[in-house]
Amino acid sequence: MTQYKTDFEWTRQQFDLPEGMIYLNGNSLGPMPRASVPAMTRFLNDEWRTELIKGWNTKNWFMQTNTLGDRIGRLIGAPAGSTLVSDTLSIKVFQAVAAGMAMVPDRKVILSDNGNFPTDLYMVEGLMKLKDAGYEMRKPDPEDVMDQITEDVGVVMLTEVDYRTGRRHDMKAIIDKAHALGAVVVWDLAHSAGAVPVDVGGCDVDFAVGCTYKYLNGGPGAPAFIHVAPRLLDTVEPFLSGWYGHEAPFAFDTAFRPMPGKIERMRIGTPSIASFALLSVALDIWDKVDMDDLQTRSAELCGLFIREIEARCPGLDLITPRDPKQRGSHVSFAFEHGYACMQALIADNVIGDFRAPNVMRFGITPLFVSEDDIIAAVDKLEKILKQERWKDPQFQKRSLVT
Ligand SMILES: *Cc1c(COP(=O)(O)O)cnc(C)c1O
Repeated sequence: MTQYKTDFEWTRQQFDLPEGMIYLNGNSLGPMPRASVPAMTRFLNDEWRTELIKGWNTKNWFMQTNTLGDRIGRLIGAPAGSTLVSDTLSIKVFQAVAAGMAMVPDRKVILSDNGNFPTDLYMVEGLMKLKDAGYEMRKPDPEDVMDQITEDVGVVMLTEVDYRTGRRHDMKAIIDKAHALGAVVVWDLAHSAGAVPVDVGGCDVDFAVGCTYKYLNGGPGAPAFIHVAPRLLDTVEPFLSGWYGHEAPFAFDTAFRPMPGKIERMRIGTPSIASFALLSVALDIWDKVDMDDLQTRSAELCGLFIREIEARCPGLDLITPRDPKQRGSHVSFAFEHGYACMQALIADNVIGDFRAPNVMRFGITPLFVSEDDIIAAVDKLEKILKQERWKDPQFQKRSLVT
């Protein structure tokens, strides 16, 4: 047994999972911490109901973008004062890429890859249309990204851990090459934050963005985060220049002046304070987690899952890298009947998800998944395959959200 500084038995007890459910989808929507209900009740009774407008000062609502941001900062290796929580990830992608483009105005190429999450690509498409200035986006295969970083590239925008395959880019190598050639780099950490240790400070990341409803367990629709390198905070253009990013929001100036030298300049407007109450208790759990422990534990559990599936579930092909260093914390298998098979598994109370065209995806999240869960999940999957239960017509119907 590996010795951990983190008590994973304790972290598991902090979540309120439905009886009998094996939840392997914390990579998509984290489960509810037990502390969420009392925290939300406290927020309603002791903050909104009683403090009303005073809460912006008395309960520090106004600066929660930053206090929560710093707590996420620790998980991604960001120094204090360089990360904030607000808005949605799609919006933060737009803001980061727009800011990056302005830093290299003579370069019109944005480099991403064809494994990136579609919304990131869509946001850049919209941004290029808006600029109407001859921009072009390149989307090579993820393996070819390194070679495609050339002197005409202005912004490299990548998601570190692929949402389908779990393959992880070499962040440091990509940044070093991009910086050497004068490009700016935007990292999407949606499948990294809370999944693997990240070192945005050590890697000298320009911009990083991510969401808090996946591995961080902040609840459905929880706000996004953005990190900007401290060296950029004097000059970075927020573009979505809302009053929360103003140097003096309550001066009600008619002209925008970004907050000098501080991450607040990337704020836009009034954030979802009720969501912050939920995110805060989720981060109370993360405050007790050592990120190296997390990676070791993830490697153990993912390794077990892969071994068991390959031994007992013929027809499923691993599409996630075998080397723990080259992947995040989810494991995916290609299977011809993946959609129906996943529906059958969900009917058996093992929750994973499906990504087109044929990917069965399983989040292996050490905070609440154990060896027993892994074995029980594979037992059920093995039976479904043996009995060909996925052929049942009830499992063929596609829901709106997969
Ligand atoms: C989950 C995810 C998103 C989702 O963006 P929202 O604005 O929160 O809907 C975007 N990008 C990546 C890489 C993701 O994994």
